[in-house]
Amino acid sequence: MTVIMLWALLLEGCIRNCDFCIVPEKEGNLRVTNDIYDFWDGQEKLKLLDNNLTAHNKQFKRTLNQLIKEDIKTDFSQGLDIRLMTSDKAHLLSKVDIWGQIHFAFDNPKSEDQVREGIEILKDNGVKPYKLMFYVLIGFNTTREEDLHRVKVLDDLGVDPFVMPYRSVQGQEGKSYDKSDSYQKDFARWVNHKAIFNSVEWENYTNNSPLILYKTCSIIFVVESQEYTSLWR
Ligand code: SF4
Repeated sequence: MTVIMLWALLLEGCIRNCDFCIVPEKEGNLRVTNDIYDFWDGQEKLKLLDNNLTAHNKQFKRTLNQLIKEDIKTDFSQGLDIRLMTSDKAHLLSKVDIWGQIHFAFDNPKSEDQVREGIEILKDNGVKPYKLMFYVLIGFNTTREEDLHRVKVLDDLGVDPFVMPYRSVQGQEGKSYDKSDSYQKDFARWVNHKAIFNSVEWENYTNNSPLILYKTCSIIFVVESQEYTSLWR
């Protein structure tokens, strides 16, 4: 099958000023730069690269109505802002043909109430939790307890956490990655490998544990056997 896909950028800048992000410094205030019809010419799939489409109400509504009208399979690849979710926006999102999952972020532990509320609004408007993926930034200014708590909150709400270890951009102030500390790598591996995440608690997880290796191998074996079996049905 031929995949016809297009990348597009409709906005620049952001309304926020997250300490770990270079967008506000590089791009400044939020502004509209393009419309879908400046790029789109009948392609089946679209990857939107906007930093925060949710932050511009008018452009968000116009864009989503266009995506719905043209029936374009869409990946909001840079993520939408859960703190700005409303019923109107969630209703529009529920009508878009989503390519993969809708990406959000839960970077700041203080945003927990807004994250919970945003997810509820999406669910109330018919967006299935398994279609929602949340980036969880670690290694910047959060404790290990806060990292685990955010992941557990998301998992309990039925959405998919995805851990992103912090890497400072060249020339940007911030903590640099300490390679002698394996925590970030281990925690990201535990959360992002779903077979491990769904079978082992973080408290019991270490890379070298024979128990984990056994469990991991079992899961892979079971998954492979199921796939193998289905081939013969
Ligand atoms: S909301 Fe996203 S794009 Fe905007 S400053 Fe924060 S991390 Fe950067």
